Amino acid sequence: MTSSTEPLVIRNAHVLDIHAGTFSLADVVTSDGKIRSVGPGAEAPDNARVIDGTGKYVIPGLIDAHVHVVASSADFRSLTWTPASYVYAQTARIMQGMLSRGFTTVRDLSGADFGLAKAQAEGLLEGPKLHFCGRALSQTGGHGDMRLPGEDHEPNGRGCCGIGRVADGVDAVRAAARDELRKGAHHIKIMASGGVSSPTDRIDSTQYSREEMRAAVEEAEAANRYVAAHAYTARAINRALESGVRSIEHGNLLDDESLRLFLEKDAFLVPTLVTYWALKEEGKEFGLTEEMWAKVDSVLSSGLEAIARAHEAGVKMVYGSDLLGGMHRHQNEQFRLLGKVQPAIDAIRSATTTAAELLGRPGELGVIAPGADADVLVLSADPVEDIAVLADIADHLEYVVQDGTVVGGKL
Ligand code: ZN
Ligand code: ZN
Repeated sequence: MTSSTEPLVIRNAHVLDIHAGTFSLADVVTSDGKIRSVGPGAEAPDNARVIDGTGKYVIPGLIDAHVHVVASSADFRSLTWTPASYVYAQTARIMQGMLSRGFTTVRDLSGADFGLAKAQAEGLLEGPKLHFCGRALSQTGGHGDMRLPGEDHEPNGRGCCGIGRVADGVDAVRAAARDELRKGAHHIKIMASGGVSSPTDRIDSTQYSREEMRAAVEEAEAANRYVAAHAYTARAINRALESGVRSIEHGNLLDDESLRLFLEKDAFLVPTLVTYWALKEEGKEFGLTEEMWAKVDSVLSSGLEAIARAHEAGVKMVYGSDLLGGMHRHQNEQFRLLGKVQPAIDAIRSATTTAAELLGRPGELGVIAPGADADVLVLSADPVEDIAVLADIADHLEYVVQDGTVVGGKL
């Protein structure tokens, strides 16, 4: 690996102005992990590595805003009895895979912690830069409570790894939020509705009282952070938005009132359709019954309809994949799904500028401009003309540059 202090120049490439949505011929000069200049005929420092960008397309490094880097298995419950050493060995491979698919930053929605982010930042672990929430806050019997109906032990503290922590009541939610913030959380995740992978809740249930959600929001905001909420149904989405939640994860069954609330509250929608696409494609091989398969199919089509409506309404949408276990390899397929309901440039913005705004780092991530982190992809084809270039990224990715260092593609 080259040192990030070594300058890098990409010469004569089509460079994407993400705001304008157009390419222009330019050189990109980076040093000390930052982009220094973008424009034609840039002067290169003597010791710079030079990449010939002739005929290539340069776009910002991608951001996936809903991942679980510890999810080596679709069975989250198994994490609570798996040794941390084994979980993190799997995580290292998952993170490396994400980077090789062009994702230079990810937002983790439960499981990742301070240690993983620190290891990545120090170069001990190759992978995307990590925004994490620690463990998601869940009510008893909620989406983060992994106990089976027959289990009567305390919900927390069993095993070293896991994705949720149970906290009931305003005071306990406050304490749990403060504890995750103490451990460096970039955002707080709450479970605001039922889910698929939790053993005892119904998917159409609402979870947490408004008072509890407001307590989490208050604590996050006090620390200049924000709350992200897992929510499927309109009922769950709307009460989370009314309580001050900043990003809705999934949001498949949103309604007109949700769209109004997203705009009024300037909140973000992170649809995670590719998970359902993957289940539809491969679920039968993994034992999905005909009945379950049909259900997945309808969730996928309602999700596509939801993002089409959100796009029309002008809701800020951010790229999220939410893949688990062996399905991580489909991470880029979400681009093809987004491309069905919005122009390619908007799908690209969802994984760059809009994602950077959600992460609280506009101008630093997701953009090729002086002063931004030097995270760029060099592609052999134009993704604005055809979003399939990003969906089938392995065929088109020449270089992955992260913090000014070539970390993937043709090393
Ligand atoms: Zn979720
Ligand atoms: Zn998730």
